[in-house]
Amino acid sequence: MSATAPQQLCDGGTYDEIETWSPQKLRDWQFELAREVVADAAESNKFYAERWRQAGVDATALSDWNDFKKLPLVSKPDLVAAGDAWTTRRGRVAFSTRGTSGEPLVVWLDGEESQTYFVPTMRGYWWAGFRSGETALMQSPAWHRLAAMEGHSVLKMGGRAAYYWGSGNPQYADYFVEAMRRVRPQFVTTTAPFLVSLLRRLGDDGVDARELFSSVHSMISVGLPLTPPLREHLSEGFGAEVFERSGTQEGAAADECSAHTAPHIHADVCHLEVLDPLGEPVAPGERGRLVVTKLFAAGDPVVRYDTGDIAELFEDPCACGRELPRLKIYGRPESSVMIGGRAVTAYDVRMCVDADPELVGRMVLLVRDTDAGPGVLSVAIEGDAHNADELEKRLGEDLGVEKVAFYWLGNARMAWGFRQVIDISEVQR
Ligand SMILES: [Zn+2]
Repeated sequence: MSATAPQQLCDGGTYDEIETWSPQKLRDWQFELAREVVADAAESNKFYAERWRQAGVDATALSDWNDFKKLPLVSKPDLVAAGDAWTTRRGRVAFSTRGTSGEPLVVWLDGEESQTYFVPTMRGYWWAGFRSGETALMQSPAWHRLAAMEGHSVLKMGGRAAYYWGSGNPQYADYFVEAMRRVRPQFVTTTAPFLVSLLRRLGDDGVDARELFSSVHSMISVGLPLTPPLREHLSEGFGAEVFERSGTQEGAAADECSAHTAPHIHADVCHLEVLDPLGEPVAPGERGRLVVTKLFAAGDPVVRYDTGDIAELFEDPCACGRELPRLKIYGRPESSVMIGGRAVTAYDVRMCVDADPELVGRMVLLVRDTDAGPGVLSVAIEGDAHNADELEKRLGEDLGVEKVAFYWLGNARMAWGFRQVIDISEVQR
């Protein structure tokens, strides 16, 4: 028997029934979906069938989540190496993952898979306050598979979809500003680095950001995890509520509600685990590796795929009342540095930097310096030196850093990007 899809409600802030389910009901329902997906992949996907056969697991008849956890984890190199043995049901639209950690993986979407992702996209938009009759101004969908669903979802919700020319690179800010003036949207979706660069650029040009954004009530920000002070800084600067959206090309999808406690997982499309190096679930409050399972059979199967991302799960109910678990993705291991045996991410450092109202919104990069010695954090911060002693103290207290080597970048006006770590050779000129 197939698990029945949640009913659409569109009642107040609630988009559909899944938001009202108890954690137990959600877990049971997700297991039905996972069981079907795994049984399907065991029969139709050469790569997974062989992998599970080797592991000695009968994937055609899982009886509970403990059985599911016997399925071995798979990595990006596994899928890249498997080639056509994995991508047997080629879709028609392909997205390539970033090559930041080895060879990119190309993920194909078929029509049915795209349709499946309209629901979580519409749910996220609904939570952020998008309603019929409104206009959304969005970044080109080329950069991420979740973005490819946005235009369709806006139309399905009875809205209007507008795109501005160019990518999230700050050099396209003029096109964005022009589109803002002509389109007068109620809703904007773009990347966090672009929003930060744009706010600074408007300030430099003497343009009143709140005036430019006066038609906008909400914005969805993707691409980098927002610290609470940075979210506040952007909301305040543009005069619109900013919602964080996150996900991966392999199928994870999550959106923030108006309580802004961390994005809620769209549990109808993905089952997400956060595991320690031994493959066991981490304790609450701990970080681990994000492992994704897609909960429907359309497109290429993704079962217990280890993304390598550093993430944290929050299973306690949110202030909004929804019991859908929440997930914060902090970054990749290669965009972190080891300090005192712990992986410190650029997000952790930004938490300390953004706590200072004079520093919030400045670009922060971790600097990889093998000569710096253990316990020493090297960090490059845009702008002139400011309250370095206090910042060093905060980094010491919060992250266990013994000493900080600061590289103040002056008015370099470097573009904010997705890159979070640079080599020492790039700051010592
Ligand atoms: Zn919530």
